[in-house]
Amino acid sequence: MKPTSITLPATELFVDGGWRPGNGAAFAVQNPTDGTVITELHAADAGDVDRAVAAARRAFDSGPWPAMPGAERGRILYRLADLIEENAGRFAGLEALDVGKPYHDTLAIDVDMAVQTFRHFAGWADKLHGTTVPVPDHMGRPRFSYTERVPVGVVGAITPWNAPTMITSWKLASALAVGCTVVLKPAEDAPLVSQLLAELAAAAGLPAGVLNVVNGPGRVTGTAITGHPGIDKLSFTGSPEVGRIIGRAAADRFTPVTLELGGKSPQIVFKDADVEALAPVAAASLFANSGQTCAAGTRVLVHRSRVDDVAEALAAQARGQRLGDPFDARTTMGSLINAAQRDRVLGYVGAGLEQGADLVTGGTAPDRPGYFVEPTLFVGTNDLRIAREEIFGPVGTIIPFDDDDEAIRLANATEYGLAAVIWSRDIGEAMTASRALRAGAVWVNSWGAPDPRVPWGGMKTSGLGRELGLAGLHANTEERLVNIVY
Ligand code: NAD
Repeated sequence: MKPTSITLPATELFVDGGWRPGNGAAFAVQNPTDGTVITELHAADAGDVDRAVAAARRAFDSGPWPAMPGAERGRILYRLADLIEENAGRFAGLEALDVGKPYHDTLAIDVDMAVQTFRHFAGWADKLHGTTVPVPDHMGRPRFSYTERVPVGVVGAITPWNAPTMITSWKLASALAVGCTVVLKPAEDAPLVSQLLAELAAAAGLPAGVLNVVNGPGRVTGTAITGHPGIDKLSFTGSPEVGRIIGRAAADRFTPVTLELGGKSPQIVFKDADVEALAPVAAASLFANSGQTCAAGTRVLVHRSRVDDVAEALAAQARGQRLGDPFDARTTMGSLINAAQRDRVLGYVGAGLEQGADLVTGGTAPDRPGYFVEPTLFVGTNDLRIAREEIFGPVGTIIPFDDDDEAIRLANATEYGLAAVIWSRDIGEAMTASRALRAGAVWVNSWGAPDPRVPWGGMKTSGLGRELGLAGLHANTEERLVNIVY
């Protein structure tokens, strides 16, 4: 696909089933691979957010969506999945333009996952069951108690820029399936695919007000959502810093909240691991989307006897990456999202060198327009800043360990707990390690994108609650108990 053949979406806010001008300051959407402006979008001020919340409230409180039979809601969501599939090239094109990530990866992973996510949750729309509980009342009379799952209400969803098609689909599909309505604020660095989602949601038959998309800066538009009394649940994916702000806003009003935050995930390479087999996957975990993935396995803990093998194999993978135009099929790594992120990543490279880590490969920004950074690999220790703080760039640190206990201790010696990877040919060793790891997701001899069928979320600073899977569906509901004495 050529970038010039991508049809750009509407630029206004999507509120109450139509495109409306925003009263905030319009903002430019940048192509991070060359710094050019793709388009300008309208932004929502607090009044626009008010109108979006009011529309979502009407659609929830007296509108057709939560009252609609689940199977009918499911049909609309299946239609939306079909439309996303039909527009897969446009989604991948917009995300490649906006985020700077390779078009073919976006098509194969992000867009495919969005289609799967809508289909998965569409199937749940008519299967939301409660339970029956046989409990006599306190006077010994028979009592029939049952629970039912009811939609939590209007969901305020705030998303990051790194995987907008995939992550926005996670939030929308699970909330819409159970009958919630949504006010979505996309990240200002990657808002285009959410505009397209709104367009297709309307075409799929989503009633007015069920989905509202309000772009704008976090501090203005995001704050207006998190503090709004008309919002019944907050669903956030992004940094721990902003997650804390949103968690506090939720606490003020006892609003349920799910927080999907950052990570500093370990990949443990045990003594007997198959280094040749693990190298491409371990490298993908470090360098996919230029390292801008929350589950990136950036701390590569390696048995000391294998450090040289692993460093060599990962360095070969790093040198094999081809940085460049996301629309060139040979490109394996695009750019970082913006100049600030590139400078931040280079700052961490500097900190690694200053603190005495050994640079194995990379560490520089290529001399070309756009915000690219070479895939970078250090050997160091777990106490360095590059091993403690989330960099969100293509930088990994190999950290030696001497025995299994030390591997687990180092793996857990982090404030984060999103994911962990175990590389081992010994199933007992892998099982023991997986139980000892404080992480929301453990991969054994693999790594990859989350799947809609299984829960996703973090422990410790990596978040609160789960998205996806049955837990993710239930996170958009309240459980109501009904007691009937007879
Ligand atoms: P960010 O926290 O800077 O921004 C996320 C969203 O919050 C954006 O839409 C932003 O506009 C909004 N925001 C900013 N300040 C706000 C405020 N005061 N009130 C309300 N909203 C506000 O995160 P980012 O830079 O877009 O994304 C990168 C981070 O996201 C990384 O830490 C990464 O690990 C994390 N992430 C986590 C997951 C996961 O599933 N756990 C997935 C992807 C990304």
